[in-house]
Amino acid sequence: MRVWAAIALVALVGCGGNDDRRADAGGGGGLCGDTRLQGEVLLPVVDRGACGIADPVRITRIDGVEITGGPVMDCRTARAFADWTVEGAARAARNGGRQLTRIETVASYACRNRYGRSSGRISNHALGRAVDVSAFGFADGGRISVLRDWLGTTILQEAAGRACGPFNTVLGPNYNAAHADHLHLDVTDEYRTFCR
Ligand SMILES: [Zn+2]
Repeated sequence: MRVWAAIALVALVGCGGNDDRRADAGGGGGLCGDTRLQGEVLLPVVDRGACGIADPVRITRIDGVEITGGPVMDCRTARAFADWTVEGAARAARNGGRQLTRIETVASYACRNRYGRSSGRISNHALGRAVDVSAFGFADGGRISVLRDWLGTTILQEAAGRACGPFNTVLGPNYNAAHADHLHLDVTDEYRTFCR
């Protein structure tokens, strides 16, 4: 009996059935074992230096909300993105009287240092742990962007505020000029939270 149980366990682990770190894990559908996430599982990204992603996915839709830009990230970040889309962005839109149908992203995986500098610390973008969001689209056909509408609507500011939790780094127009046109959202182990 014990031998058969051990063999069955090996078979389960072997196909990734109970390992939620795998991008196609879960068995119940959805990327990264999260039924809210739609997109595709990619082969591991191997890149220069410390860059790369062991379990990359490309996200196209989260809980009915279209995600444009084809962002690539690891599963942990993808699940944070799903949490924020549902509990942060969509809720902020609803509180503003609108129904969120689209989140536009402008950057995700990129093998580079912070701010694209030639030296210094590696960016969380280079580890598949960050996504940059530039705009929202709504069921009424409207669109608001971080660059033009940050001060003109409460939706983006509330959505940014609600990102601090699912993500632990949140940087936007209030932080510096480099973030005037997007919200930088990332998951890091370096510190608890840094939200500006
Ligand atoms: Zn960024």
